[in-house]
Amino acid sequence: MDLPDFSSPSWLLLLTLIFFIIITGRYFLVAGLFYLVFYTWFPSRFEARKINKKKYKKGQFRKEIKWSLITSILFSIAGTIMVVLWQKGLTKVYTEAYQYGWWYLPVSLVIFMILHETYYYWIHRWMHQPTVFKIVHKVHHDSHIASPFTAFSFHPLEGLLQAVFLPIMLMILPMHYVVIIILLIIMTFSSVINHLDIEIYPKNRNNILTKWVIGATHHSNHHHYFKYNYGLYFTFWDKIGGTEK
Ligand SMILES: [Zn+2]
Ligand SMILES: [Zn+2]
Repeated sequence: MDLPDFSSPSWLLLLTLIFFIIITGRYFLVAGLFYLVFYTWFPSRFEARKINKKKYKKGQFRKEIKWSLITSILFSIAGTIMVVLWQKGLTKVYTEAYQYGWWYLPVSLVIFMILHETYYYWIHRWMHQPTVFKIVHKVHHDSHIASPFTAFSFHPLEGLLQAVFLPIMLMILPMHYVVIIILLIIMTFSSVINHLDIEIYPKNRNNILTKWVIGATHHSNHHHYFKYNYGLYFTFWDKIGGTEK
């Protein structure tokens, strides 16, 4: 099949627009659904699992949605760049599931998540340096009590730091396109779950999920105390770095 030249100006614009619709749609769908289920439809059922009892600041959601839309533009541009890189043969993305063996599909997913965790943990710690924090990371922490809408609420500079990781990885790590889609779904759900401020994972501290996977309690502590719990998906870097609370 002959594909059009995606690097032409009209295609660059169209692709960015398509990605923007998909990415904002994904944000409103997942964050909105969690908000409706946990805060509108069944709040009393989750009251015991709500982490911060104080009410959200007036106008918080509106601000979070505004920053999230700006982040979505950056993610859309990154998406377009990935398509162009792929068309020019500069990525290691592959389409035949058996090309590297079936076993490699879940392995590549885990490798990506571990590398992403490492990248995010260390830039996150760097973003908490006082001078960097004020410029790059304060926007995210303006949400003292996280909400599902905090999931993409970043200053554009932080959005940029987050957006570059996937295109770089696609040029280095072979990944099947379905694995990439699964990763994007995991990223969205994990960010919304971690910012929900209602713990949905088992409360037992020794449970394997609570021990190694980040949930709302872990990340709400980060929004409350600032200097602990820098992780993204997993707790291992916080344990190694002595920053877990
Ligand atoms: Zn956060
Ligand atoms: Zn932070």
